[in-house]
Amino acid sequence: MCGIVGYLGERDAYPILIKGLHRLEYRGYDSAGVALINEEGEMTVCKAKGKVSVLEEVAAERDMRGTMGIAHTRWATHGEPNECNAHPHYSQSKELTLVHNGIIENYKALREELTNQGYSFVSETDTEVLVQLIEFVKSTHHCDLVRAVHLALKSVIGAYAIAVLEKGNADRLIVARKGSPLIVGIGKTEDGKTEFYVGSDATPIVEYTNQVVYLKDEEIAVLKRDGSYTITNLSNVEQTPQLQTLQVNLDELEKGGYAHFMLKEIYEQPESIRTCLGGRIDAKKRDVILSGILDNKKRFLNARRIIICACGTSWHSALIGKYFIEEACQIPVEVEYASEFRYRNPVIFKDDIVVAVSQSGETADTLAAIKLAKEKGAFIYGVCNVIGSSIAREANSGTYIHVGPEIGVASTKAFTGQVVTLALIGLAIAKEKKTLSTEMYEMLVDELRKIPQKMQWTLDHNKNIDRFAQMFTYCKNFIYLGRGYNYPVALEGALKLKEISYIHAEGYPAAEMKHGPIALVDEEMPVVVVAPKRGMYEKIVSNIQEIKSRHGKIISVVTQGDTVVKGMSDYTFVIPDTRDCYVPLLAVLPLQLLSYYVAVAKGRNVDQPRNLAKSVTVE
Ligand code: GLU
Repeated sequence: MCGIVGYLGERDAYPILIKGLHRLEYRGYDSAGVALINEEGEMTVCKAKGKVSVLEEVAAERDMRGTMGIAHTRWATHGEPNECNAHPHYSQSKELTLVHNGIIENYKALREELTNQGYSFVSETDTEVLVQLIEFVKSTHHCDLVRAVHLALKSVIGAYAIAVLEKGNADRLIVARKGSPLIVGIGKTEDGKTEFYVGSDATPIVEYTNQVVYLKDEEIAVLKRDGSYTITNLSNVEQTPQLQTLQVNLDELEKGGYAHFMLKEIYEQPESIRTCLGGRIDAKKRDVILSGILDNKKRFLNARRIIICACGTSWHSALIGKYFIEEACQIPVEVEYASEFRYRNPVIFKDDIVVAVSQSGETADTLAAIKLAKEKGAFIYGVCNVIGSSIAREANSGTYIHVGPEIGVASTKAFTGQVVTLALIGLAIAKEKKTLSTEMYEMLVDELRKIPQKMQWTLDHNKNIDRFAQMFTYCKNFIYLGRGYNYPVALEGALKLKEISYIHAEGYPAAEMKHGPIALVDEEMPVVVVAPKRGMYEKIVSNIQEIKSRHGKIISVVTQGDTVVKGMSDYTFVIPDTRDCYVPLLAVLPLQLLSYYVAVAKGRNVDQPRNLAKSVTVE
């Protein structure tokens, strides 16, 4: 959460920083701010409550010259979203200014200590405490800023990615991280001079350079105007930087003619799943080629249990993964909310495999959960989208979902990418363990390869959802139902609606209706039922009947050619037939579109829903 951008070079920093903030705005949009140092060493700080566009309006009145700067788009944790709490924050003397992503957990104690030392605070944030602490350390230790940052960070508990500017010094930018991501991009100007870019992720950097260094936890980078840079750890020991080449494509970061990133990403799914599957199935032999599994064959064959840790949408895809892996591989799978798992001293055996599912690979709770599991001796497997992310690096091995950057806050293509990746993992293990008959294995592999074209069919045949969604804008509640593989789809459909339209929605296993939620059903209540002509079809038909008898409105997802459920429904979405285990990949598409169009009809900001942000890097 929250986005940090930085620049040091020969160009005007302000336009680069603003563009970067726009790219990072999906991570937080409570307020935004920028700090610049001009050639005379003077510092300008400009901040505003709200979106980056508001900051631009305010900055238009100010002198924003400078070739070095830092900027921030906030997702508030400490202190309400207002201008005063917006970053960058000044130190007491206004000599330093700092932007921060994360939470300083011991900020209260530090604030008290600093107050006793005569420091006063203007904001309610934990961040202001950090910049004041750095200044305090600098003055009491009579040291330079880099040393002061080292020492101050040593006394900090919590997570941070920071960038610090010092008045009078236009030649040096200091950045550091622990627990929150930070990337340094190393570019070249036309005349061959080195320039530096800083970003919470690659999106603000990719159009300038593809050469990056991912800072590791407790590393501090000092970027200098002469093009040199050093990375040290908190004990001031120099680290060897590992230069990596970014694989993000600039087009993937644009809306490409769609009204919102979310809509673009929904429609991208046939292609993103094609990429996700690309090169991973040997068409002739039907082998699943996942090096992460093949290189660790023994671990998977001997696994006592698989525990999947995830949050939000990833937790829903993990649940589908559980059903698949248990069925195909006969290995018990537990699915855990990472935030619960990490705090309850879970039983973890050395022959357990802990799989972390996270789009960003930065989800703070999931990262902490795998660190805990690793300490207890488990083998860690990452399923992430963002290459080089913290979870990907922390894991012993893993598989990227490769669906391209997901910018919309409500996850769509990452969900289907995760489901497909977990299915590939299940198939790869099943092949090694021989837990599926050859016939069944081959059929599942062949059917998985057909999913992209079936997704395309689903999107092409559900084009009227925009008109139909208008009818539900007045609703205060929705219920989503599914059974088996489609129970997680019900959860995901409900989550999507809540996230972007702010309509209350509950997902339930269909048979659980009778144990409580059916009391909510009346003629006002839309009930979305995932009812493919597979699995427990007759059972779900009975569930629909029970709702109809209570006058609920039925919106169903049915298999092409179905007449029974269609006849019982007020509205129907049609999907092509596929195996039970793959139905979620098709059924979720109309539910994503439904939530999108209901939200648009209600005038919601789909890509930046209130109170949410992508990439939950705070606990
Ligand atoms: N804890 C800081 C604040 O509330 C930073 C939050 C963020 O990561 O955006 O301002």
